[in-house]
Amino acid sequence: MQYIYETIREFKQKISYPDIPTLESAADVETNINGKKVLLFCSNNYLGLANHPAIKQAAIAAIDRYGVSTCASRLVAGNTLLHNELESTIANFLHRDASVVFSTGYMTNSGAIVALALGINMFRNVKKETVIISDELNHASIVDGCRPTKTKIEQYPHKDMKKLEAILTKHRHERKIIVTDAVFSMDGDMAPLPDMVILAKKYDALLMVDEAHSIGILGKTGRGILEHFGLPWDSVDILMGTLSKAAGSVGGFIAGSQELIDFLRIIGRSYMFTAALPPPTAAAAIASFNYIKTHPELVKSLHDNAEYLRSSFRKNNFDILDTETPIVPLIIGSEEKAIAFSRQLLAEGILACCIRWPAVEKNKARIRLVLMSDHTIRHLDTLVDKCAIIRKRLCC
Ligand code: PMP
Repeated sequence: MQYIYETIREFKQKISYPDIPTLESAADVETNINGKKVLLFCSNNYLGLANHPAIKQAAIAAIDRYGVSTCASRLVAGNTLLHNELESTIANFLHRDASVVFSTGYMTNSGAIVALALGINMFRNVKKETVIISDELNHASIVDGCRPTKTKIEQYPHKDMKKLEAILTKHRHERKIIVTDAVFSMDGDMAPLPDMVILAKKYDALLMVDEAHSIGILGKTGRGILEHFGLPWDSVDILMGTLSKAAGSVGGFIAGSQELIDFLRIIGRSYMFTAALPPPTAAAAIASFNYIKTHPELVKSLHDNAEYLRSSFRKNNFDILDTETPIVPLIIGSEEKAIAFSRQLLAEGILACCIRWPAVEKNKARIRLVLMSDHTIRHLDTLVDKCAIIRKRLCC
């Protein structure tokens, strides 16, 4: 324990310990912290479904019928009618053959990547290595999924298609998986998916896309990055998503061909060796997908808000990188100033998280803003005004 005491003491001296806000009500655009009403700009509750009456009602009905947990893995006694319905709802929403649900998005990425890289050799007498080719800014759950595979991992510079092609050429004769975020969670920009689809086909690589920040968010009807770019539904071999963002619940999934899904159910360790998604959580996600299908106006309002905020910040000369989505990174640079910025925003009634190393590069600290369809123009103007005042005060 001495080692832990010393490490944490040193950490607290060198880098200030993160502020962990405690919400006293739902993650709506207006929530409560420290007995005070604040505007929320850092929840992934993009469409406001986590506290929507129809979604809550579905969860309550599921508790009444199934209780709060099945206390078993899916393969044992954890599978309910709700789990089956959730998987067919997701597959249907994304126009794919099938889907498989995991307990979190993190577990989905880590389980699926290990299964695809290593599990492939388990039952067959083949010892062919799989090379995983990953964008350098991919989410931590992808990075952590790659680590235990002990296979070759190649990282390419962010969105650099020339480098990606060079890596594909180098491994021409090996089995390959290209994996990318659809929307990069810290910068808000998008993967150049049309080019990646072409490269994956040309070099016979599998393509896996993490749509955590695009399903329910991108595309006119919220079908994600494929709808955004107008690509065929089966352009991506392994489509990953999470239920903890636009779907207002918790959990993760892979959608794809029936064979891929059958494979993951018996090889994915984070699917097999953990308890099934709680029934109310599954019911909430089903209700959310059904709600999104019939309410495209929610997605439109999210897009309108994102466009308005991005253009307001750019007009006021804020650096928000090349974001094209409802994730808006307000670059501050210095970690101390970013922490102070976020604290001053809270004092002004706005909750917006400060993101710093190791989540992003050193000296690229930022306020990471996430928009919701329920934000109003008045909320967005208040945010920009307060940011301008704080920027002046902090000279950043
Ligand atoms: N992928 C990306 C791109 C994410 O941003 C996140 C969550 N922040 C995850 C995966 C993990 O999802 P979950 O929160 O459902 O575990």
